[in-house]
Amino acid sequence: MPSTAREPGPTPSEPDTPPPPAPDLRLAGFTAGSRVNGPGRRVVLWVRGCDLGCKGCFNPHTWQVEGPGDPVDVVARRILDAREGHDGVTFSGGEPFQQAAALAAVAGIVRREWPEARLMAFTGYRLEDLRRADAPPGSADLLRALDWLVDGRYDPRRPGRRRWRASRNQRLWVVGRPLPPDAFEQPAPEAELHVSPIGEVLLSGFPDPALRRAVRRL
Ligand code: SF4
Repeated sequence: MPSTAREPGPTPSEPDTPPPPAPDLRLAGFTAGSRVNGPGRRVVLWVRGCDLGCKGCFNPHTWQVEGPGDPVDVVARRILDAREGHDGVTFSGGEPFQQAAALAAVAGIVRREWPEARLMAFTGYRLEDLRRADAPPGSADLLRALDWLVDGRYDPRRPGRRRWRASRNQRLWVVGRPLPPDAFEQPAPEAELHVSPIGEVLLSGFPDPALRRAVRRL
């Protein structure tokens, strides 16, 4: 007599759960047309919030986290609207990886609509630490979205003159697509001034201390 027992069937699959929405992004600054924050001509986002506390940090005004953020789709649109004539986007700070989930979401939108853009970040963490299980949330996603990374705390005892690195302990990594062949041949200004339409002056890049003091007096 045939058994009436039935083989257990496949477990019904759970309905797809949409991922949680990305948190808003706390921004400290935005500029376009930069030539000192990575290869080529770049759109640059400075994020707000960093608790790493490097002595001699160029951007201590970006450490605080207070204040509202901007939705990631609004930030991505701002980048995309500025993209013409640019080679990519740089995330700086503040500490990009302390908002890695939001920045990964921004990067995802940008890469979908502007696939040629090369994405880069400056971080105070070491790459090895960003690959650990206890890295800030979203770090793996942000690393996957990037092409190039400059890592390591700023150390004023070891000032450096290598391209895009302010101290000798910092390292330039290719974590995605390769650097342009002429990346190190392009003439590289070390610092640049941006003046916003409302007259705010932004000093960017790797200025020497005398220039930083002079701009603070403006
Ligand atoms: S990681 Fe960057 S923003 Fe944070 S303290 Fe160090 S140099 Fe400043």
